[in-house]
Amino acid sequence: MDHIVIAGNGIAGLTAGDTLRRLGHTGTMTVVGAEPHATYSRPALSKVALAPGEDLDVGTLPEATHGATELRGRSLTGLDPARQVATLDDGSELPYDGLVIATGSQARRFTGSDREYTIRSLDDAARLKGSLVHRPTVTVIGGGPLGMEVASGAVGLGCDVTLVHPGTPMELHLGPLLGGILTQVALEQGLAVVDSMVSAVREENGGMVVTLTDGTELVSDIVVTAAGDLPATAWLEDSGLLVDGRLIADPRCRVTDSIVAAGDVTFIDHGAGPRRTPIWTAAIEQAKVAAAALLQGDEAASLDFQSYFWTDQWGLNLKMSGPIPHGTEPLVVKGSLEERSAVLHWPESGTAAALNMRMPIPRLHKLARETVTSV
Ligand SMILES: Cc1cc2nc3c(=O)[nH]c(=O)nc-3n(C[C@H](O)[C@H](O)[C@H](O)COP(=O)(O)OP(=O)(O)OC[C@H]3O[C@@H](n4cnc5c(N)ncnc54)[C@H](O)[C@@H]3O)c2cc1C
Repeated sequence: MDHIVIAGNGIAGLTAGDTLRRLGHTGTMTVVGAEPHATYSRPALSKVALAPGEDLDVGTLPEATHGATELRGRSLTGLDPARQVATLDDGSELPYDGLVIATGSQARRFTGSDREYTIRSLDDAARLKGSLVHRPTVTVIGGGPLGMEVASGAVGLGCDVTLVHPGTPMELHLGPLLGGILTQVALEQGLAVVDSMVSAVREENGGMVVTLTDGTELVSDIVVTAAGDLPATAWLEDSGLLVDGRLIADPRCRVTDSIVAAGDVTFIDHGAGPRRTPIWTAAIEQAKVAAAALLQGDEAASLDFQSYFWTDQWGLNLKMSGPIPHGTEPLVVKGSLEERSAVLHWPESGTAAALNMRMPIPRLHKLARETVTSV
């Protein structure tokens, strides 16, 4: 395989490029990334980037080692798999022998208003922080990790924040116990939580109006929508690769023999229906598998991913390995839930979590898999 094109300069694109080199690819590579920046930590955008202080700090990632030609601030607008050619935003063509699709996703939004903020890119975070420092009243739509992290940052910056979410925030992502703890801490720190779905959002009289499903209207200076993301597949629409609008790859992350996909853009079909896993560590693992599959085909290993997720909000750090625990009480392996500092283990579901406790990730993974608890 001579020339490889990598579409997307996020963590999946970066990891795929570095892995291709590590596995011995000596041909040329071109990385095309719509953002003008070098790859940065996207999870940091809703955490440290919104912390009080002048600077927007997202830390640094290790430099790329792939030595590819990088086209930053450029987008791919089309793909012809039969001719093995991708189209750039100026209409020029980029031929490839192998293609890695890693274009991630975009934030969902309700309106085109510039008072409705989303947070997907470094530029989004800069714009949001630029607004939050003036302490507007804020309605956050969505009580998943992103919404709760943004709410935590906004409260920390002195804003009056209302978060709208059906049910208990974070419960879908962490289960009822940990979701309940984070929500309780958020309430103690001044977050107002409204248990509802949103039916509409509009700009009115220089502010924003959020209409709930029961007709109630919430008025605030700005809205932050953190209600999910949409895979960035618009450039693939005429490629013939999308199935019901979805880019689906096999467990080796292959879409065709010469095209692999990784990260938030990708649905992987392990046999039980295609599923996306839009988290940082999944993007890294998929990119490694995808790079190997592009070079080694059937000889490459399939994806074997142990779910790992973390969040920082309301002064708490939470790390979780394994599936979301529902229903059962955990074993408290260390610390105490009352002190909100504990290592927890759900042997039935193969899950372990560290709440405000330092614990190396490999140890957390090991604990999650154990049937007898010891750390
Ligand atoms: C604010 C925020 C906080 C998060 N926090 C966490 C967390 O705490 N833990 C966790 O596990 N996960 C978290 N995530 C999710 C995690 O960041 C993503 O799963 C991960 O970044 C996905 O990487 P990716 O490379 O697939 O996509 P992305 O990081 O989205 O990178 C894709 C890149 O492709 C570019 N692109 C798109 N279309 C084109 C095109 N047509 N041509 C060229 N380039 C294109 C995009 O501009 C983008 O730079 C968070 C996400 C966000 C937005």
